[in-house]
Amino acid sequence: MENDFDRPIEKEQIAIDTKIERVFSEAYYIGRASTAKGTVAAYIPELAKADASAFGLYMMHENGGSLSFGDFETRFSIQSVSKVIILAASLKYRGFRGTFDHVMMEPSGDAFNSILKLDTRSNLPFNPMINAGAIQTISLLADILSFEDLLSFSRELCCDEGITLDEAVYKSEFESGDRNRAIVYLLKSKGVLMSEPQKTLDLYFKMCSLSVSARSLASLGLIISNGGTDPLSGKRLIDSEHVRTIKSLMFTCGMYDFSGEFGVRVGVPAKSGVGGGLVCAAPGMGIGLYGPSLDPFGNSIAAVKAMEHISEKLGLHVFDY
Ligand code: GLN
Repeated sequence: MENDFDRPIEKEQIAIDTKIERVFSEAYYIGRASTAKGTVAAYIPELAKADASAFGLYMMHENGGSLSFGDFETRFSIQSVSKVIILAASLKYRGFRGTFDHVMMEPSGDAFNSILKLDTRSNLPFNPMINAGAIQTISLLADILSFEDLLSFSRELCCDEGITLDEAVYKSEFESGDRNRAIVYLLKSKGVLMSEPQKTLDLYFKMCSLSVSARSLASLGLIISNGGTDPLSGKRLIDSEHVRTIKSLMFTCGMYDFSGEFGVRVGVPAKSGVGGGLVCAAPGMGIGLYGPSLDPFGNSIAAVKAMEHISEKLGLHVFDY
């Protein structure tokens, strides 16, 4: 059988412009130097085991070239970056209306796991990039897709058949996920949850526990940047209209309550996770980063610093066009 994942991502077969190479290499050192300023997530005990000084950076260019630095192959849990995949799946299987009749598209301005506005301001979660919104979105899928279906979709989007469920993270997530349990039951109490709470939550925890690398995220970023088609294989993986929606929500909500500042300073659609991952869909390139030392918002401190440098030096801000 032909291997769908058989793409030329192993080595830099195609030369990358020397300026791009220099800027990425500077960004790597800037990022690595900042890891000591943050802390690894500890509220999910298994995440606390990560090496706080780790930092990996992978850039996949639409021309087929790539750059890699540091811990770019290290496996870590995808956490909230999976919210992008969950949204892509919902748009694919439920459609635009079938998704946004059940979840809003507004930045919340609150922490990723906040319950505040869900209880006081609206019956529907603010957007699919925060916990309440992703849990609600996954409830739209829980009765039509299995975890294996979502795992295959994740592998396809990340061009990485090595993605598996990290059982230890999943167990840890399950044992410490009381706030997410509160969210799912709050959604149920409001009559908006679209599947059974346990089933919904189990799928959400499993999707957060997928083990990826900076390289997997670079591939995801490249496909999103390229309008949903893999520029290397030519294969369409996400409908282009859905990509516009995904990019918009990544831009406005992808960095939690730091999304506005990240939008101004870096200006590319991005999504972070408390495992230290960051996916960026920059013009002409996908960038995947891994640095488990986090800032107070839950974003990788090294990844944000590195992206500020890359965007400024290469003029990647989407509103510079
Ligand atoms: N699994 C994490 C949680 O539900 C995901 C949060 C994140 O990465 N921000 O709390």
